[in-house]
Amino acid sequence: MNPILQLARPDILTLQPYQHAAWEPSLERMHANEMPWRAEGDSTQAGLNRYPEPQPDELIEHLADLYEVKPENVLAGRGSDEGIDLLVRAFCRAGQDSVLICPPTFGMYKVSARIQGAQLIEVPLIAAQNFALDTQAILAAWRPDCKLIFLCSPNNPTGGLIPRADIERICTQLTNKAIVVLDEAYIEFAGEFAGVASMTNALERFPNLVILRTLSKAYALAGTRCGALLAHPDIVSLLARVITPYALPTQTIEAVLKFTDGEHRVAARQRIATILSERARLGERLARLPWIRRIWPSDANFLLIECIDAPRVLQAVQNVGLIIRTPNAPLLPNCVRISIGTPAQNDRLLQAIAAAAGIAA
Ligand SMILES: *Cc1c(COP(=O)(O)O)cnc(C)c1O
Repeated sequence: MNPILQLARPDILTLQPYQHAAWEPSLERMHANEMPWRAEGDSTQAGLNRYPEPQPDELIEHLADLYEVKPENVLAGRGSDEGIDLLVRAFCRAGQDSVLICPPTFGMYKVSARIQGAQLIEVPLIAAQNFALDTQAILAAWRPDCKLIFLCSPNNPTGGLIPRADIERICTQLTNKAIVVLDEAYIEFAGEFAGVASMTNALERFPNLVILRTLSKAYALAGTRCGALLAHPDIVSLLARVITPYALPTQTIEAVLKFTDGEHRVAARQRIATILSERARLGERLARLPWIRRIWPSDANFLLIECIDAPRVLQAVQNVGLIIRTPNAPLLPNCVRISIGTPAQNDRLLQAIAAAAGIAA
């Protein structure tokens, strides 16, 4: 057994999970209280009258292929958000255990911890170094009740990648002490093209490493709500006992198989290439505008920008029918986060800010 499981809540380790109806596709189903007929017009392959296969073999193998891991390393869920929630629920005892986060970062780590009643240990990123991870401070802040360390690379909303060596150091130093959850929601925008690879090939070496990947960003499938938690098989098995019984809807399963096949993977790479060139162009053009004070380097599909006056930028952009946002982070005053759009949308955004500032874009 992976010794890291000893960190899980004892009541989860001994939990008798829900026994869902047996998955026996060769037999006709009279065991799950379903209707034997489809709803009129139901054009799904499996039929919406049937409960879907829990953790479907075909989907798990497909995701394992996509992320270059073994099927036993994959837990599929409703986005990375479900992975975050499952980890916090399975490992943190309410009122006793804690999770470590590095703000400014993705808001769900904190929300999931709060919902579960876990404490928060905050080790801020180093603002003066482009929001680099403070590895030393993370290791110093760890204490025995700290079960999960959330790292986000590239980080939302600051956009930077965490050097591989830092992640490896934290995994090594905290072997058997904490799970390192590496959220790689945006890694495809730093991958292949920029020569930076996912850490999935380090899973074998680090039994306390969990990687979150999502189809919501690079694969243009946010509406399917599908993400993958990649980890040691014992962690996957533990979380599979906690996840809701038929987590993935039939339409999600069928859409993911269809829209991440070989042809769609090629198309996704082409779109990522466009996003990367637009990211560079938008960054250069924005930097010339007087209302913009600073643009942080980004390895993701968004830019974090410090403005002279953020509300005026939000308003100028909204006046031409676009919406951007301020990151909900006290460490980022007067900042806005812009998701890279189509070239036409990016032009509209540039022109709106330039016009409001009284100059030509
Ligand atoms: C968008 C985002 C997610 C959410 O992904 P889903 O798979 O859609 O739940 C996870 N982590 C980060 C850092 C994100 O920005």
